[in-house]
Amino acid sequence: MNELRSKVKELLGSNALELFIGYERGTRLPRPLLAASAEDADRLIFDEYCTGNLAVYLTRKDLVGGKKTGIAASYYAMRNICRLLDENQLQEGAIKIFGLTPEGTLKAFDTIADVRRYLQETPAPSKQVEDEWVQEIDAMPAAERWKFWTSELSKCFKCYACRAACPMCYCTKCIVEVNRPQWVQPWAATLSNMEWQINRVMHMAGRCADCGACGTACPLGIPVHIIAHKMAEMVRQSFGEPAGKGAVLSTFNPNDEENFIR
Ligand code: SF4
Ligand code: SF4
Repeated sequence: MNELRSKVKELLGSNALELFIGYERGTRLPRPLLAASAEDADRLIFDEYCTGNLAVYLTRKDLVGGKKTGIAASYYAMRNICRLLDENQLQEGAIKIFGLTPEGTLKAFDTIADVRRYLQETPAPSKQVEDEWVQEIDAMPAAERWKFWTSELSKCFKCYACRAACPMCYCTKCIVEVNRPQWVQPWAATLSNMEWQINRVMHMAGRCADCGACGTACPLGIPVHIIAHKMAEMVRQSFGEPAGKGAVLSTFNPNDEENFIR
């Protein structure tokens, strides 16, 4: 922790960084901290509980806009950052990334190529809980599965916290707010809630890092991250792409099997 604090202080002091997005102690779990001075940096922490995805702040022009920014990134946040770079939402030279290795040590990355190599060489942290959810839901007969998701999504009151927590949801105008034509009904009702989540997850196909932040953010505990996790698994099976590697629904490859057309 001290290593991170002194490194960030040094980078802020020398103007190599103007802002560092990290974590500080919260009342229950660590919370985000936007550190712009040595005093702020003294509050930084980084441990195994710092799992919230801070990459979501990197596209916030009001916070980051044009500043040389550093970030404490979890494994999954690093996946998001690479994807955001691929989508030209970030400028490579403007970001300094610190990651936490599975052994709990701090790792400072000099280049994005180093981050990509690290992601390739390091096994992703376990998704056992999510895998078990998916197995359980997959094992349900179709009618029961429909009932499960209808019941879960009927609770949604369209607060859009799942969207706000997702680093890949950076559009300035979301499809749910477009009313000419109106793709998704804006009020909360089971069917329109389903339309909303299906649209959200389809938008994420191949882009989602499988970080789980959307599910954590839902104040009603609706497991929307499980839909994203299942979708990431399907993308991997159908296109051989690991989570967060490519926008499979907006690219065309003549060699695609198209086995979803039945
Ligand atoms: S798991 Fe959820 S929050 Fe994370 S990238 Fe995928 S859709 Fe976004
Ligand atoms: S965070 Fe939960 S309640 Fe809010 S829009 Fe998303 S699914 Fe619905």
